[in-house]
Amino acid sequence: MQNKKNFYINGEWVSPLEPRPFQVINPATEEPCAEISLGKKKDIDAAVLSAKKAFETWSFTSKDERLDLLEKLYEIYKKNWDEMSKTISLEMGAPIDFATQLQTGTGASHIKSFKNILNDFKFEKILNEEKNQTVLYEPKGVCALITPWNWPINQVTLKVVPALAAGCTVVLKPSEIAPLSSMLLAEMIHEAGFPKGVFNLVNGDGAVTGEALTSHPDIDMISFTGSSLTGSKIMEACAPKLSQVALELGGKSALVIFDDTDLDKAVETTMKGFLTNGGQICTAHTRLVVQDSFKAPLLNKLKEELEKLPFCNDPITEKDRGDRAWEDGMTDVVQPIVCESQHKKVLRFLDEAKSAGVEFLTGGNVPDAETVGNAGGYFIQPTVLVNVERDADVWQKEVFGPVLSVRTFSTEQEAVLEANSTAFGLASTVMSSDPAKAMRVANRIRAGAVYATSNGEG
Ligand code: NAD
Repeated sequence: MQNKKNFYINGEWVSPLEPRPFQVINPATEEPCAEISLGKKKDIDAAVLSAKKAFETWSFTSKDERLDLLEKLYEIYKKNWDEMSKTISLEMGAPIDFATQLQTGTGASHIKSFKNILNDFKFEKILNEEKNQTVLYEPKGVCALITPWNWPINQVTLKVVPALAAGCTVVLKPSEIAPLSSMLLAEMIHEAGFPKGVFNLVNGDGAVTGEALTSHPDIDMISFTGSSLTGSKIMEACAPKLSQVALELGGKSALVIFDDTDLDKAVETTMKGFLTNGGQICTAHTRLVVQDSFKAPLLNKLKEELEKLPFCNDPITEKDRGDRAWEDGMTDVVQPIVCESQHKKVLRFLDEAKSAGVEFLTGGNVPDAETVGNAGGYFIQPTVLVNVERDADVWQKEVFGPVLSVRTFSTEQEAVLEANSTAFGLASTVMSSDPAKAMRVANRIRAGAVYATSNGEG
């Protein structure tokens, strides 16, 4: 088991001021794989103080100095690609090829793209030349960055890199469930030579460490990604001191499929939508809205495909599926749920659906050890619920597991109504071989990102 008990504060790895040990569990085996510490208020105070001091000089560094360090970080990240992939596979239970291509890949692409944005960014823009008026873009200050476990390095690089590029200093609190990839990134930041105190990492839970960070008076901005419930708690904690907060929250996205869609593409897109990353994606398409004339062929084929899927009981040595890449719909293996509490939460949704008399097309249970191929692992069968009521929890709430709920429509208007029938509005996809129809419906769906597609590729 790895010893990862220290925090990265003021340019060095330091012991927690009051130890609070916590085990990181490998979700594919349920065995501990590392021991970390959960920070307390004093650890957060030390990290924020270090970031505050570093801001005095970091905020005045030139764009070229910051670009140079980000370039070094990018090269170090690429050199450590395999280690990052294995780390994410271990803490998330992600199949190694998925971790390598997508989880680690997104981290690299964010470092690269923010580096390019910084390169092109003008921190001084003329507003009115005649009146000699200029707009100066200044770094915000000390940023608290709080991230979830489901795309660990993706979420972390999305926050850390732009903050450092802008001249801010940061305290990162990654999810306690998948903190190892962030600790590896901290080592890379150290190796790249960022000045002391610019980047700080304190591991911890939400209730103690997270709360100490969000309520700290010297935090100038909070960037949070996670569940809607936690987001509203953070907003509440920030209200008295009017800190700026950026929130990226949960989802319950709809996949609308018209009966003129190619059947194989419809099945593939459906599987990819609710099974990728074990269904643990904010934009997972967990509500299927299918045209009634297409329901039978689609669901029959979907059931057949789902019941053939093997379980990924050894993610790190999972066979490399070569050209069967994510883009093609990497759903030929079932990933475990990240931890015991999430596993229980998903099962609770399924138990409640059973009690409410919801019809299960397939799945609904924990697979037996023989089917999985080993004794442990937080696995759940890919599950499809049909004829779900619109007010049912499985239609309205984020389950965050391999669970798909299905409703039907006959007209375009009904399709829009079904797609818009939750409080969430993160993403959505409309499939039809008629591009004009797909666009018409997509334009009426209330979600941040809507894809209109005839073949699942956007
Ligand atoms: P979560 O809300 O439980 O935790 C997220 C982070 O917040 C963790 O680091 C946690 O320790 C911390 N936290 C918890 N309570 C806190 C508190 N009171 N104060 C401060 N910090 C606190 O979410 P999770 O289970 O880690 O992640 C899954 C959720 O994240 C899902 O809802 C998913 O949709 C969402 N998500 C959204 C996006 C997006 O871009 N919209 C991306 C990825 C994940």
